[in-house]
Amino acid sequence: MIDDLLAGVTPAGQQLLIDGDWRDASDGAALTCINPSTGEPIAKIAAGTAADVDRAVAAARRAFGGAWARVNPAERTRMMLTLADLIEENLLELRTLDALEMGKPLRLGPADPSGAADVLRYFAGWTTKIAGQTLPNSRPGRLLSMTYREPVGVVGAIIPWNGPWGAVLWKLAPALATGCTVVLKPAEEASLSSLRIGELVQEAGLPDGVVNVVTGKGETVGAAMAAHPGIDKIAFTGSTETGRQIVRAASGNLKRLSLEMGGKSPDIIFDDADLDKAVPGAATGVFSNSGQICCAGTRIFVQRAVYDEVCARLAEAGRGMRVGNSLDPETMIGPLVSQNQFDRVRGYVASGQKEGARLVSGGERVGDRGYFLPPTVFADVTDDMSIAREEIFGPVASVLVFDDEDEVLARANDSEYGLGGGVWSRDIGRTMRVAQGLRTGTVWVNTYLHLDPGVPFGGHKISGWGSSLGPEAIDGHTVTKAVWADIAP
Ligand code: NAD
Repeated sequence: MIDDLLAGVTPAGQQLLIDGDWRDASDGAALTCINPSTGEPIAKIAAGTAADVDRAVAAARRAFGGAWARVNPAERTRMMLTLADLIEENLLELRTLDALEMGKPLRLGPADPSGAADVLRYFAGWTTKIAGQTLPNSRPGRLLSMTYREPVGVVGAIIPWNGPWGAVLWKLAPALATGCTVVLKPAEEASLSSLRIGELVQEAGLPDGVVNVVTGKGETVGAAMAAHPGIDKIAFTGSTETGRQIVRAASGNLKRLSLEMGGKSPDIIFDDADLDKAVPGAATGVFSNSGQICCAGTRIFVQRAVYDEVCARLAEAGRGMRVGNSLDPETMIGPLVSQNQFDRVRGYVASGQKEGARLVSGGERVGDRGYFLPPTVFADVTDDMSIAREEIFGPVASVLVFDDEDEVLARANDSEYGLGGGVWSRDIGRTMRVAQGLRTGTVWVNTYLHLDPGVPFGGHKISGWGSSLGPEAIDGHTVTKAVWADIAP
């Protein structure tokens, strides 16, 4: 079944989707995909080139000024809803491809934070509501002034590997709703579900060239897109370091940018919190998807009176999460995505021990093949340790002790990052003060990791620019034009 699935990802093997055609990379080169549960190769994808990016951008530009511009908003809605239905019909296949390629457990299903196909449905409702205004001016009766909100143009969507099919939909939905066209570049570690979505886009009846998929390396395909004069906006999700490179490369034509990047999110547990909710909530917030979630609550601040209890219960919650092959329906914690990521995360475990943190649970490799690391809890972590400051992107919780509200707020905000944050307490005033005080794009109160297509999601500080969801994502894909008319008789 798996072989059939892999063989059938695109009509003619692993190719690029450009202007409605499936074709090899311009130089015929390919990359090998590895299954992180076994360390074995499972498929090949085309290694796109700068020439492929040129062709994809040209196709997207033609569609933007042509076939896609002629599709009226209600028809765009219909196509997007059709695509949403197709995604749902093929959900198991998409999830299996991601499980095979990057190790996300199959059981992280529709309730997972990538939001299933509803993100397409939410944005499909916007197509008919993106309106300008008529505005008063100093010459009433003589001059008419109004605004149009127009699509920004060709969008280059660059995504990471940690939630592949969901990330594709987050990028496609606001772009399609506003009338933009797209060149999509998935991560080299996880491209198969993007290719399959490319097929579903064709099946949904979108005109050729509206969505193009160019797989390949970041330094080749991604860099060519970031610098391309024919791309009007880059919608990027990935690491802060790559985001900085994109900012520099995009300066040529000063393209618009939305950047969703890394985090080191604080999750704050006060001593009056309901620990039966807070501990499992914090465990899910840090360990889900093997900690490979940008807004994972990795700095867990616990008030002194309940510190020992929370450390022990968090470790117990981690031990209760079954580690294993991503395809096993019992698996809660799959492998890390690659040998590189595995080595990197183990390096952080070693540095935590070296810097004096207390390893309460986990830390040791599971099995002798694949890249498995169990939920790992460090106690007695101090603010200056690298495991408290740097994004690990693995199942590693750093637990820190605090005494009072002002202190914890200052320490929680003492980070370059500002993506997510959590607060657990029965005192509503306190939770709201902390929610107001945290300098992060999202704060969860007595819960963690909830996302919804209609609610903005984005980062402050080096975690990002702009928002991927909610009305702000529509703003980020449109430009405003003012039009003046002389109406004097
Ligand atoms: P990454 O930055 O290495 O890669 C992301 C994408 O950028 C990939 O498609 C890659 O090929 C491409 N890329 C690499 N070099 C490039 C270049 N020079 N120019 C243009 N594109 C280039 O990130 P990753 O390792 O795939 O993902 C993990 C990171 O993503 C973590 O830092 C995580 O926090 C972040 N992330 C953030 C969010 C969010 O919503 N804020 C969501 C998921 C992941």
